[in-house]
Amino acid sequence: IIKVDDLQTSFFTHKGEIKAVDGVHFDVPAGKTLGIVGESGSGKSITSLSIMRLIEDPGKIKGGHIYFHGEDLLEKSEAEMRQIRGNKISMIFQEPMTSLNPVYTVGDQIAEAYQIHRGMSKKEALNKAVDMLELVGIPSPKARVKAYPHELSGGMRQRAMIAIALACDPELLIADEPTTALDVTIQAQILRLINNLQKDLGMSMMLITHDLGVVAETCDYVAVMYAGKIIEYADVETLFSKPKHPYTVGLLKSLP
Ligand code: ATP
Ligand code: MG
Repeated sequence: IIKVDDLQTSFFTHKGEIKAVDGVHFDVPAGKTLGIVGESGSGKSITSLSIMRLIEDPGKIKGGHIYFHGEDLLEKSEAEMRQIRGNKISMIFQEPMTSLNPVYTVGDQIAEAYQIHRGMSKKEALNKAVDMLELVGIPSPKARVKAYPHELSGGMRQRAMIAIALACDPELLIADEPTTALDVTIQAQILRLINNLQKDLGMSMMLITHDLGVVAETCDYVAVMYAGKIIEYADVETLFSKPKHPYTVGLLKSLP
């Protein structure tokens, strides 16, 4: 569904050029999940933000291609990208509070996604919002649909974020470390939830995470990033049974 070819994104600061993404290539077949792992600063978030074309100054996508259904996203206009971002590709960000709007109830925010992306009436969309909150495992969804983001726990806010992303009915879901703000016990639980929803809804997914255990359990393919490059890319069985790159071998040693 998406094919990234020789993607290069740099930041231009007073220190010179920082090649955050330096010739990245991978693809995600339709309906499959790609896990992206790699240490902090290796370029995982900048890769996903490049796909969404959400790179801001002093960053710049310098080259490469991002084919989505065979069409290069780097050649689309900003207006076309806005359509794609809403309807085709959704992203869940690292920190939920930055993407939830504090002045609207979670129900209104989920309903808005249904109204815009699926053309529902407000009433219909609010009913669907309750179902969606239930689906992502928020207790008492009928009451919580009227809650403001600050009235929810961190884990519930993260689930609300997932609910909004799913209400857009995307073909591709990009989840960038969607659980780092949470305590360890619910991290794996939420990653599994996302994965089950992905399978049920038949979406394609890119899952960026530090949790190799979850990658082994839920992903079809894995890309290992290091210093802006993909140093290893394989299907999940191959990567875990026959890792080639010494960095990957080291990474796997840390698994229990
Ligand atoms: P983490 O696991 O900590 O989220 P990451 O793999 O997502 O790390 P990125 O956020 O993609 O890392 O960053 C890749 C590189 O780009 C880093 O070296 C970072 O310093 C650089 N970078 C990111 N944003 C900016 C910016 N706004 N200005 C300058 N450099 C940046
Ligand atoms: Mg990141």
